[in-house]
Amino acid sequence: MRRLRNVKIVATLGPASSSYETIRALFEAGADVFRLNMSHGSHDDIRARHEIIRKIEADTGRPIGILADLQGPKLRVGTFANGSEELDIGTKFRMDLSDAPGDATRVNLPHPEIFAALEPGSTLLVNDGKIRLLVDDCGPDFANCTVTVGGTISNRKGVNVPDVVLPLAALSAKDRKDLEFICDLGCDWLALSFVQRPEDVIEARDLAKGRAAILSKIEKPAAVHAYDAILDVSDGIMVARGDLGVELPVHAVPPIQKRLIRGARAAAKPVIVATQMLESMIESPVPTRAEVSDVATAIYEGADAVMLSAESAAGQYPIEAVTTMNNVAISVESDRTYRDVIEASRTAKRQTVADAIVAAAREIAETTPVRAICCFSQTGTTVSLVARERPRVPILALTPLMDTARRLCLTWGTHCVITEEQDRFKGAVIAAARAARKYDFATEKEQIVVTAGVPFNKSGTTNILRVAPCDEKLIYKAETE
Ligand code: ATP
Ligand code: MG
Ligand code: MG
Repeated sequence: MRRLRNVKIVATLGPASSSYETIRALFEAGADVFRLNMSHGSHDDIRARHEIIRKIEADTGRPIGILADLQGPKLRVGTFANGSEELDIGTKFRMDLSDAPGDATRVNLPHPEIFAALEPGSTLLVNDGKIRLLVDDCGPDFANCTVTVGGTISNRKGVNVPDVVLPLAALSAKDRKDLEFICDLGCDWLALSFVQRPEDVIEARDLAKGRAAILSKIEKPAAVHAYDAILDVSDGIMVARGDLGVELPVHAVPPIQKRLIRGARAAAKPVIVATQMLESMIESPVPTRAEVSDVATAIYEGADAVMLSAESAAGQYPIEAVTTMNNVAISVESDRTYRDVIEASRTAKRQTVADAIVAAAREIAETTPVRAICCFSQTGTTVSLVARERPRVPILALTPLMDTARRLCLTWGTHCVITEEQDRFKGAVIAAARAARKYDFATEKEQIVVTAGVPFNKSGTTNILRVAPCDEKLIYKAETE
C-alpha cells in the first residue's frame, strides 16, 4: 500500500473514531499519523486507541506514526450535566470554581489564577474564540458575564483571556503524568502546547528521555517571536492556528503560517498545519470551497502535513474528511504550478557532504527518469534532508529501526520500509530495488537512486550515491565488476 501524494495527513482520534473499523478506514483513506489528544478522554481511552493503531500497523505491515498532544497550560471549562449548552447573545453566563456540573447559566472554570487577573470589562473567549463573554463583575472565585457572541459550549472547551497576561508554567502536573504515561506506552511524537520559550521544549525533552521526538505547537505570540530559537531545539513544528487566531488577530495568522513553514522546511524539520482545515465537515459531508482552498494553500506552501482535529475526532464524517484531504493533495500536487512554487521556495543552505548528496539525488530525479530516491537511514536525518529538497520522485526510506520509520510518517514525500541491517552496499542496493518493486515505485526495467553511508550503521555518514537498476541480475553484475 502506498500513498499517491507527498503531503502527510494527521487525523485526531476521539469518540467519533475509536473502533478498530473506523481507525482502519481512516488509515486506508489516507491518515499517516494519528493524534491522541491528552486533553480529552481518560488514560484507558488513550490506551485502547493506541492498541488499535498498533494492531492496524501489524495487520497492514505499514508503519504508522502516533502523535500525543499534551494539553499544556491550556485553560478549559469543566463539564456540563448535558454535555453541552447553547449560549444566546445577550444572556448572562457565570464561570466559577464550583465542581457542580454546568448548565445553561454557569460552568466550572478550575483556574483561580484567571479570576485573580480578571476585571470588569475583560473578555473571555471560548472554543477557539467562537464564543465571547464580557465580564460584568468578578471576584476571587467567580465571574458573571454577558454573552456577546453566542454558540454551543461543551465539555472542556478551551478558554482564552486575550487581554490578560497569566503566569503559566510550561508543563502542568497533569502534563507530567500524561507524558510519563504516553512515553511508556510508546509514542513517536510528543506535541507541546503553548510553548513560549526554548527552555519549555528542553524541559519536555529531558523528561521524554529520547522516547519520543518533540514537536512544538506554535500558538502564542511569544513563540512566534522566539520561533528561531524554539525551532532550533525542536524536532518538528505545528502551526496551531486555533489558539494563534485567538491570541492574535485572525488576519495575522496566514503570514505567520507561511513564515513558520519556511523556517521548518529550511531546518529540515517536519511542520504540520492544524485547526479548522475542514471544520464544516464536522457536520457536513462536503467541505466549503474556502476550506478546500485552505488545505490546498498549506500544500502549495510546502507543509509536511495537514491535520484534522474535531473533523475526525468528534465529527459525523471522519472518513470523508480524510478522503477530502487526500483528494485535495493529489489534485494540488499534480498541478504544474505546484512544482514551480515548491522549487522557487527551496532555501536550504548546503554545508555538508550529506547536503550535497541529497541535492545531487534531487537533481538526478529532475533530469533522468529515475523512479524513487531510496535512502538508508538509522536516525532519519538523511531522509529529512532529502525531503527538504522536495524532490520530484517519492522518497523510499529504508531503516532497520521501527521508531525511525514511525517518526518519518510525518515527513513530506517519505514512504518508510523496515529492512534488515545492511553491512554491504551491494546488499543495500538489492534491498532498495526490491522495496521499490514491491511497493510499486518502479518496475524491473526502471532505475532508482540509492543513498547510504558507508561504513553502514553509523549515523550522519551519508556519503554514497548510486543510480541503480531495479533488475537484480543487473545489480549483481554492476556491483561485482
Ligand atoms: P487543542 O487546543 O489541543 O487542539 P481541542 O480542544 O481543540 O484542543 P482537538 O483535539 O483539536 O481539541 O479536537 C477538537 C474538538 O473535538 C475538541 O474540542 C472536543 O470537543 C472534540 N474531541 C477531540 N478529541 C476528543 C476526545 N478524545 N474525547 C472527546 N472529545 C474530543
Ligand atoms: Mg490548541
Ligand atoms: Mg484544536
